[in-house]
Amino acid sequence: MARYTGPLCRLCRREGMKLYLKGERCYTDKCAFERRPYAPGQHGQARRKLTQYGIQLRAKQTVKRIYGILERQFERYVEKAMKKAGDTRENLIQLLEARLDNVVYRMGFAINRRQARQLVNHGHFLVNGKKVDIPSYLLRPGDVVEVRENSRDLEVIKKALEFNKERNVAPWLEVDRDGFKGVFLRYPKLEEVTDLPVDLQVVIEFYSR
Ligand code: SF4
Repeated sequence: MARYTGPLCRLCRREGMKLYLKGERCYTDKCAFERRPYAPGQHGQARRKLTQYGIQLRAKQTVKRIYGILERQFERYVEKAMKKAGDTRENLIQLLEARLDNVVYRMGFAINRRQARQLVNHGHFLVNGKKVDIPSYLLRPGDVVEVRENSRDLEVIKKALEFNKERNVAPWLEVDRDGFKGVFLRYPKLEEVTDLPVDLQVVIEFYSR
């Protein structure tokens, strides 16, 4: 499956904000955005006033980059969210948050979503006891996510658990980090996803033009 393989820090600089895509480094003074808080490229430091279109474009790019999703798939999520009854913003966030790679990251088994995606791809996780190696797999309430027994000694997972040990668990998840498992209890409410630095309404407007 296609994915962005370029430098992650460049994405933060492009969006003009820290997206915390790497993990440990994001919290140190090695963070590229702390050092160069302007867009990459020759004209990166030029001041530009964004048009309404530009604001919407940057908003949807930011969400895509945070969740590590490419355009076509993101478009499909937006279409699905629009078709479903209820608040489109909440429908969209629920689709994004139900992805297996995102849940693996939120549960603390990976230091960032990119790593979570790779770990899932390599078959290190079970969902309800069965191997699932599709990062975009959408979990349903009550699904149990577990690190495979043979993968529990992986250095990368141990390091992630150590890094995340103080991190709060999202209220829609339950995690037993010592037992290498967790439960996707329910879909989150829009207001519960507090670490998304973007107004999803602006993203929806981009696709409603
Ligand atoms: Fe973004 Fe993290 Fe890189 Fe800083 S270190 S620019 S927050 S990915």
